[in-house]
Amino acid sequence: MDCIFCKIIAGEIPATKVYEDKNMLIIEDIDKKAKKHFLLLPKSHYASLEDANFREQIALGRAIMKLPKLKEVLGLNDGYRLVINQGEDAGQTVKHLHIHILSGQKMGWNPA
Ligand code: AMP
Ligand code: ZN
Repeated sequence: MDCIFCKIIAGEIPATKVYEDKNMLIIEDIDKKAKKHFLLLPKSHYASLEDANFREQIALGRAIMKLPKLKEVLGLNDGYRLVINQGEDAGQTVKHLHIHILSGQKMGWNPA
């Protein structure tokens, strides 16, 4: 499958990995939109929330709920923002569901 995130997960394309377990990989975003910008990649390939099967839904919930334990490792102690871009209007460019983890600075509230 021609998916850049699947290739990163398979180790075929390099990325800066900051955490990995059986369900997810967290890497640094190559084009940071905040002082700290990570991407949480579920290891299973699906494009959007509505495409996730039951196992994938459980795995995604577990992955999100692990973030409080990873705050130290990722340096998120002063707060962080999670973003999922879904579809055209949101500007989703990679069709493998991923969660942006933004941190390291005060953030505004402007979706533009
Ligand atoms: P989205 O617009 O929500 O689909 O986000 C895709 C994100 O993936 C963007 O923030 C890109 O900077 C990031 N990205 C694309 N290719 C890579 C890569 N090879 N390594 C790390 N991040 C990437
Ligand atoms: Zn993929």
